[in-house]
Amino acid sequence: MVVVMAPEATESDIEEIVDLVNAAGGEAFVSRGVSRTIIGLVGDVEQFGALNLRSYPGVSDVVRISVPYKLVSREHHPNRSVITVGGVPIGPGHLTVIAGPCTVETAEQTLAAARMAQTAGASVLRGGAFKPRTSPYAFQGLGEAGLRILADVRAETGLPVVTEVIDPASVDLVSSYADMLQVGTRSMQNFALLQAVGSANKPVLLKRGMNATIEEWLMAAEYIAQRGNLDIVLCERGIRTFETATRNTLDISAVPVAQRLSHLPVIIDPSHSGGRRDLVLPLSRAAVAVGADGIIVDVHPHPAAAMCDGDQALTGEDIRDLAEMAATLPQLLGRTLTPAPRPVTGAAKLPTGLDASLV
Ligand code: PEP
Ligand code: MN
Repeated sequence: MVVVMAPEATESDIEEIVDLVNAAGGEAFVSRGVSRTIIGLVGDVEQFGALNLRSYPGVSDVVRISVPYKLVSREHHPNRSVITVGGVPIGPGHLTVIAGPCTVETAEQTLAAARMAQTAGASVLRGGAFKPRTSPYAFQGLGEAGLRILADVRAETGLPVVTEVIDPASVDLVSSYADMLQVGTRSMQNFALLQAVGSANKPVLLKRGMNATIEEWLMAAEYIAQRGNLDIVLCERGIRTFETATRNTLDISAVPVAQRLSHLPVIIDPSHSGGRRDLVLPLSRAAVAVGADGIIVDVHPHPAAAMCDGDQALTGEDIRDLAEMAATLPQLLGRTLTPAPRPVTGAAKLPTGLDASLV
């Protein structure tokens, strides 16, 4: 059951509901959104019904939810949400392109990739500083030094930054640099991490576990929402199937299915799903056509020398093809490409040691 508070509800109205639910032996989870607060109730639904919560001041609605996730469902929030990342919207009406290197290697490489991302029509920069690699011998990322590079490149380009966080202990550190926290496919059911990002004051990009059903994915989002953070973007990045021609199988139907079940925006990762450069553009077109709210794409100035996922990184001519697609296809389908924010004049500082010829 979910209690939807009216926009004018006061803190004491919210507290009164929480106290009533606690006194009835239940638990109340308060989620404060931009325009309204909702309270998710866990416990005996019949007993909550007897409380007649709708009659209390500040309560706009009380909704019984039949799906196992509540706060992220469309049953309690019928309109699809728009999430903003450093001022950039992701949600209905827009196509938001997020692009950047799979992993931050150097300041030069990251800035060059960010410039490529801008050329491709991106309004948000991606890049991993903490890399959850399948092999313990593979490059694990630059850690905080990588986060510093991302922050410098944001200052230079104006692009807000999304980067992965892999454990609860580093959520504060990553939050102090990033505009959005990414939870990767391998971490989708790391419940301690989900709770930690749920308590952080940053939007979250939640990738679908490669072996997870759509319901499990939405339950993972519910863990985040339950801690008070409803600024979540879902990302379909391919699932494990018997097919070996591609790295993963892009589950294109997950987009409309998740959008029908949940109010959260849904984007597609055509790079990690196909795992092949030649598939990125066709899968990006499919993402726009199926109604995805955005795409997240790997780009690299020298894919052959990339420390991670070079096979799927776009470069050169492919960037121009992606830009053309992003500039034309969304309009045909009644949407607009989200524009990139402008850098704050004077605030920009070239990352140390940057080779200006690369940009
Ligand atoms: C990534 O986006 O860098 C990444 C590791 O993706 P995934 O978690 O989908 O494999
Ligand atoms: Mn990668």
